[in-house]
Parts: sequence; C-alpha cells; structure tokens
Amino acid sequence: MSMVESLAHEFVEYVPDELVDGVLYVSIPYATVVHRCCCGCGNEVVTPLSPTDWQLTFDGETVSLHPSIGNWSFACQSHYWIRRNQVRWAERWSPTQIAAGRSRDRLDKAEQFAEPYRDEWDTAGRRDTASIWRRLIAWLRGSG
Ligand SMILES: [Zn+2]
Repeated sequence: MSMVESLAHEFVEYVPDELVDGVLYVSIPYATVVHRCCCGCGNEVVTPLSPTDWQLTFDGETVSLHPSIGNWSFACQSHYWIRRNQVRWAERWSPTQIAAGRSRDRLDKAEQFAEPYRDEWDTAGRRDTASIWRRLIAWLRGSG
C-alpha cells in the first residue's frame, strides 16, 4: 500500500476491468474519469464529469480535476486534488467538515440548476397573466 504522488492519464472509451494504480482513465464518450484511490487502498474512484459533478481540464499534456476528490465512503477517507497529473493531499477532514462539505456540494448543485433569468421571466410572466385575468374578469363584470 503506497501513496500515489503523480498520475498518468489515459484516454479510453471503456474503463478496463483491472485498474492500475497511478493511472487516471478518462472516458470522454461516457463523461467519466476512473482511477484507483491515490492512497493505495485499491478502491475504485469514479468521478462523473458534468457541470455539477467534476470538471476535467486537459492542457495538452496533463489533466486536472475540479473540485477535489473526497473519498468519504471509503475506509481511508482520503481527500486530494488532482492538478496537472499531480496528487495534492489535503488534510484529513473531521466528520463535521465532511458533513459541511457535503451540504455545500448540495448547495452548489442547487445553485447550478437554478436559472435566474428564467425565474425572472417566470415571475414577470405570472404577473402579466394575473393582470390579464384581472382585466378579463373586470371586462366580464362589465366594469372594464
Ligand atoms: Zn484510499
């Protein structure tokens, strides 16, 4: 069991059954990145790519993943960043920090899914509809 300090990336279509330590498998067709936990515990870490999950940056030579990878569901509870194929270890989080991080994740997701412009439009639309109804009712009552 040895900690991985740097990774090699491999662009694949399908993730192989047997993963090799220190290799980051990037599947663009499936928008997924898979690697073995960098602590050496052997667990498979799956990081889906989407605007609300992880974002992958490929600078032509190296890859980076954002945000950090927190393997809270594994016994190792490892937490690290992958920046330009380098593993940057974070301090071990306390259970409180983990809970806070998780709720922040949910908050981030909620914010990502919110569409402020459409909300604005919806509010305006509802107001317009309400006033049309009021005018129509007034007209029907013969007072419009
Ligand atoms: Zn691990």
